[in-house]
Amino acid sequence: MSQIKIPVLDLNPQYEQIKDEVQAAINRVLESGQFIMGPDVKLFEQEVADYLGVKHAIGVNSGTDALVIGLRALGIGEGDEVITTPFSFFATAESISNVGAKPVFADIDPRSFNIDPKEIKAKITARTKAIMPVHLYGQPAAMAQIMEIAQEHGLKVIEDCAQSFGARYWGTCSSCDGHCQESTRESLRGKFTGAIGDVGAYSFFPSKNLGAYGDGGMVVTNDDQVAEVARMLRVHGAKKKYHNEVLGYNSRLDTLQSAILLVKLPYLEQWNEGRRRVAKTYNDLLADVSGIITPELADGHVFHQYTVRVLDGKRDKVKEYLGEQVIGSMIYYPVSQDQLPVYQGQYPKMPGSDLLGTEVLSLPIWPELEQDNINLRVNLCKTALLLA
Ligand SMILES: *Cc1c(COP(=O)(O)O)cnc(C)c1O
Repeated sequence: MSQIKIPVLDLNPQYEQIKDEVQAAINRVLESGQFIMGPDVKLFEQEVADYLGVKHAIGVNSGTDALVIGLRALGIGEGDEVITTPFSFFATAESISNVGAKPVFADIDPRSFNIDPKEIKAKITARTKAIMPVHLYGQPAAMAQIMEIAQEHGLKVIEDCAQSFGARYWGTCSSCDGHCQESTRESLRGKFTGAIGDVGAYSFFPSKNLGAYGDGGMVVTNDDQVAEVARMLRVHGAKKKYHNEVLGYNSRLDTLQSAILLVKLPYLEQWNEGRRRVAKTYNDLLADVSGIITPELADGHVFHQYTVRVLDGKRDKVKEYLGEQVIGSMIYYPVSQDQLPVYQGQYPKMPGSDLLGTEVLSLPIWPELEQDNINLRVNLCKTALLLA
């Protein structure tokens, strides 16, 4: 038996770094006795709004709730269609279905793993109300083209930023090439994902780039009306207590989680830089390995995941070999959302996302991952490819 045991994600190095601050924050909340909508919630919302450069940030219970509440605040529901990517965690499509709308899937660009704007155009009908791009693995989607399409067809845009806190759009990934007006790209350059569309939805699930120690999420928007509805929906559809106007949810961000996230937010840029450094090291070491396609180091990418494509049907063998060496790796996502049992038979398979489901392999990444660990994994990948 090998003694090497390396997980796919290790949250401990980060916790060690901020332990004292986090414990002080938790104690402060415990002693204040204000567990629901305490002052830390408002403070954290303000800090996020300032950081992202948006007018409103509304803390909610989870990233999934942020999507659901965001959709409803945009007025999307029964009879509407929302175009989204097939290649994401199921919360993306689930949120659309749960508000009574229909997810319509547009295939991805395999170079970026993100929704392909050309495919979006082909899926627009009279019922289409919104586009929900996902900035998968932390890489901004082709937002300039997506915003142009939305504008042309009068559609809302709700960004699933669960994997992209801190990612900025620079228009430099290959799927952004030459398909939009330079002026649109210029106007969006440097903006944070989530601050571009009508609504941005974030998750603070512990493994995300900005992770709480439990569930949490955030809706952001520049639209006063949308913000007002979102604030109302998170507290049972009431603007004024005991004057419930619509059916809402119990979906608040905990004061405790807000206090923890207030400690973490100032470190985010440095942690995302760490992730980019790890990704670059992997890319350099894997550059001339045949049988693997490494991800683009697009500007602004925050590498929630570091995901390679393993070609020629060798992915599962490589994963198995790594597992035997007790090295963690993950497949995000083996089955496209449209092909999940919940939607059985409703959607035809899409070639891009279907192929990538058989090729993608996410290697361990966290900001503090050391060079030795990366070398070891890369060498094991190379061995696995030779054996496969
Ligand atoms: C994690 C995730 C969500 C859901 O966030 P939760 O906080 O777990 O509800 C939604 N979309 C994507 C792409 C995610 O990765």
